[in-house]
Amino acid sequence: MVTEPISNDTYEKAMRVALEQAHKAAASGDVPVGAVLLDQSGEIVAADHNRREELNDPTAHAEMLVLSRRAREIGDWRLTGHTLVVTLEPCSMCAGASVLSRIDRLVYAAADLKAGAVWSLYNIPQDRRLNHRVEVAFGVLEDEAGGLLREYFERRRQAATAPDDANRRSQSE
Ligand SMILES: [Zn+2]
Repeated sequence: MVTEPISNDTYEKAMRVALEQAHKAAASGDVPVGAVLLDQSGEIVAADHNRREELNDPTAHAEMLVLSRRAREIGDWRLTGHTLVVTLEPCSMCAGASVLSRIDRLVYAAADLKAGAVWSLYNIPQDRRLNHRVEVAFGVLEDEAGGLLREYFERRRQAATAPDDANRRSQSE
């Protein structure tokens, strides 16, 4: 079953909400990635951000959190008709979960050349050997999502070379 195509405008609005979520991840020291889930009519039915550090849970990626929440809410693990919108190309776990949950569509903003499993390293959502395929669209608000991540890692690098670190280094010399 494939639902009516959702307009680019709807994707962009959804991606803005996902970006707002991504900003919230930084508060707990989490990599800023946000996700929202749309129902068949394009309505946002779940929104969350990466909480791996906050929850000490390796599976607490934004995508996993919105898929699980929605499935619990409707009392069905099959999320047919839904569209997952995420600020960064999903990893192998989340790309796998998008197939397992049987969503219709996956939309992401920036590519993840180191871990992406939709295009960069693997193409799990459209692997014909699996029993379900997910339509993919990408590049929606790519610059904003990519910029947010670059800033985050830049700040982390700066923090790593801050006085604290200099101290440690001088002590070991
Ligand atoms: Zn993931």
